[in-house]
Order: sequence, then C-alpha cells, then structure tokens
Amino acid sequence: MRYLTLGKTGLRVSEVGFGGIPIIRLSMEEAVAVLRRALERGVTLFDTANLYMDSEDKFGRALAGERRRLVLATKSIKRDRAGVEADIHQSLTKMRTDYLDLFQFHQVSQEDDLKTLTGPGGALEGVLRAKEAGKIRHVGVTSHSLEMAQRLVKMDVFETIQFPFNFVEEAAATELFPAARQANLGILAMKPFCGGLVDKARVAFAYLRQYPDVIPLAGWDTVAGVDEVLDLYDQENVVTQEDQEAMARYRKELGDKFCRRCEYCQPCPQGVLITPAMLYGIVAHRMGPAKAAEFAAKTMETVKQCIQCGECESRCPYGLPIAETIQHHLALFEEHCRAAKITGNNS
Ligand code: SF4
Ligand code: SF4
Repeated sequence: MRYLTLGKTGLRVSEVGFGGIPIIRLSMEEAVAVLRRALERGVTLFDTANLYMDSEDKFGRALAGERRRLVLATKSIKRDRAGVEADIHQSLTKMRTDYLDLFQFHQVSQEDDLKTLTGPGGALEGVLRAKEAGKIRHVGVTSHSLEMAQRLVKMDVFETIQFPFNFVEEAAATELFPAARQANLGILAMKPFCGGLVDKARVAFAYLRQYPDVIPLAGWDTVAGVDEVLDLYDQENVVTQEDQEAMARYRKELGDKFCRRCEYCQPCPQGVLITPAMLYGIVAHRMGPAKAAEFAAKTMETVKQCIQCGECESRCPYGLPIAETIQHHLALFEEHCRAAKITGNNS
C-alpha cells in the first residue's frame, strides 16, 4: 500500500479508501469485521455519509480505537446552516470522534443546491464555523454532474472533489481531473465498481490504478472482498489484453443505458425524485432488499405521482426510458416491502 498526499488538504491517505454504502446491509458485527480487515491491510481513508443509515455508527464502532492514524470523511446533503450543523453534530457522535478530517457537501449537482449552500444562512457558513471550532479539518464536495463538478473545482472553496470514475464512466479523466490537479484538489473516485454493475475487481482496479493520484473509494461488504482488492495493490499494476477485452465487454453490455446520476432530468413538475428512483435497482443490489426498501421509502412514494408526461425523458442526455424504469422500480420496491414485512426483516 502506498500513501499519498490528498491535494491541498495535506492529509496523508492510503492509495485506496473505504466507501461506506455496502456495509449498510451488514450486521454490526459483520461490518466491524470488514472495516477492521481494511484497517489491518493498511487502508487509512474511510469515507461515509450522514445519509447512509447506520454506516457512521459502524465506522464509529470499528475504528474508534485507531482514530489518530485514520482519515475520517463524511458528507451531508443539507443545504442550510442549521441543517448541516445538526448533521455535523450527529456525525461526530456516531463516528465517536471530536473532529472530522474531511467534511463534504454531498451530491451538489444542481444550480439551486450551490446557490442555497453558498448563500446567506447556507450550509457553507455552518461548515466554516465548524472548521473554526476545530470540528472539521478540511472541506470537500461530491457531485455526479460533470458540468457542475467542473465549476466546483474552480471555486477556490473546496479542497477535494469526489466524482464517479471507473472504466465505464471515464469522462472525468480528461474533462475534470486536469482542472482539479491544477487547483491542487484531492481527487476521490466514487463507484469504482460502477455502482455495483461491475463484479470483476481485477479489471476494475487495473483500470483505476493507471491514475495513481486518483483515490478510489471501494465499497466492500466482505472480508474476502477487501483481500481481493488489496492483494492487487501488493503487486505492480499491469493491464493485460484480457483486462482490456473484459472492459470492452462490460462497456458494450452496459452501453449508455444506465443512469449516470447527472440529474439533468430534474426537477419533475409532479415532484417525483427521479434520480434516486432510477437508482433503486442498484441500491437494492448494494444494500439488500429490506434495507433498500426502508432507505428509499420516501423516494419511491413520489413515483406514484408520475403522470408519464415525458418531460424528464426529453432532458436525459442518454435517452433513458425514465417513466417506464421508475414504474418498474416502484413495483420492485413494493415487492421488497411485502417481503420485508413477511420475514420481519425490515429493521
Ligand atoms: S414522466 Fe413522470 S417523472 Fe418524468 S417529468 Fe413527467 S411526471 Fe415527472
Ligand atoms: S435519468 Fe438520465 S438525466 Fe436523469 S440522472 Fe439518470 S442519466 Fe441523468
């Protein structure tokens, strides 16, 4: 394992980090085992979010005794000062720490988000106050919109940028990372497995390791999964002909027909939360059906308001059949709710 400086934060971090979504579906005991395995294998960067149900609790339980040698990162989706201050307090409590190394504004993709969070009474004020008080050391941002991310890296406000990057979603390599490097931002890559759509760790990481200053955040849910990826980091990276062919097969299979979470389709005049509804299938795969049904309940309720007007589809640059997909996901969600109730496994 190599250790790198995370851009202008000056933080030293492992060349691969831990992403906190998939442990949501694990029991506390299982999650602690996975987190501690990553720690034993040299991972020092652990990233989660206030939004990820009990993920921060699990981080707190597994990592508390090792706090000083770790870099703990989390995020908040709140855009107002009071909301973000409450989230910071909650994150500190759950993660059992008195400071966060990196606090990120979560999923800033729309103009309104940016305007609200940087405006009077916005979340940025709350985060800067928390920084002054020593509760936060560095401030970063995450986005799924390339256009917005390109603006965010030039703002001279954030110290890190987190963006989807993998061999299927490659645009950031040429259209975002050069500007981030120029601004000396730390670069974090979310979705190294393309949000769970790619199941070959060797192929996924052979690609990512060609970008040594980009730190992938791997969402692990088994000890074996941690070992599989970190064994790769024990060896020099070689992208073989076989890897190239596997990447080409995945690219062909996935094509453009999956949701990139860019949010160009929003807002919906009927109030449907389109992007999270589009992602329900992936969320269920990553969290497990019972947790996903609980997590996405509010989102999926909004799908019932869809009148199939097609406005969102005309804005989707990938031509996705949004109305049909979200109805399919609603049916899946209802099936998961029923199953969770039957088994009593929805806690
Ligand atoms: S098709 Fe449905 S989700 Fe899309 S804009 Fe119309 S009402 Fe909203
Ligand atoms: S449905 Fe299309 S426009 Fe909406 S987030 Fe997904 S890829 Fe982007």
